[in-house]
Amino acid sequence: MSEHDPNCLFCKIVAGQIPSRKVYEDDDVFAFHDIHPWAPVHFLMIPKKHISSMAQLGAGHEALMGRMMVLAPQLALQEGCSPYPEGGFRMVCNTGVEGGQEVHHLHWHVMGGQRPWLRG
Ligand code: 5GP
Ligand code: ZN
Repeated sequence: MSEHDPNCLFCKIVAGQIPSRKVYEDDDVFAFHDIHPWAPVHFLMIPKKHISSMAQLGAGHEALMGRMMVLAPQLALQEGCSPYPEGGFRMVCNTGVEGGQEVHHLHWHVMGGQRPWLRG
């Protein structure tokens, strides 16, 4: 699997070829605001390297996925979600066409604020 897919929208966002409103970046993870938010707080967390979806995950991805899960609540608070339990957030990872995935670079939607469940 190539680290970067030149035809992938989110790989282009990671590379800065398409602008985005960045939420977070480290060596392995990138997060940015969704261009069509479904909730008052709505950002996407992605691995920097191209992984098409959760269907491609294997044992070698456990540390990366674990880091993303631990990062999510920190970034949710940073982006304005209210604290648990009154606040909180919702995470969605659409996988494959029947899972509703439109962009085929693995991404977690992190949504918060009032009524983040209106879609999805
Ligand atoms: P999916 O349906 O694949 O789970 O979600 C893809 C998400 O990417 C959608 O919520 C859509 O609004 C978002 N999106 C698509 N194109 C862009 C873009 O160019 N920039 C940003 N920031 N988000 C995008
Ligand atoms: Zn990609």
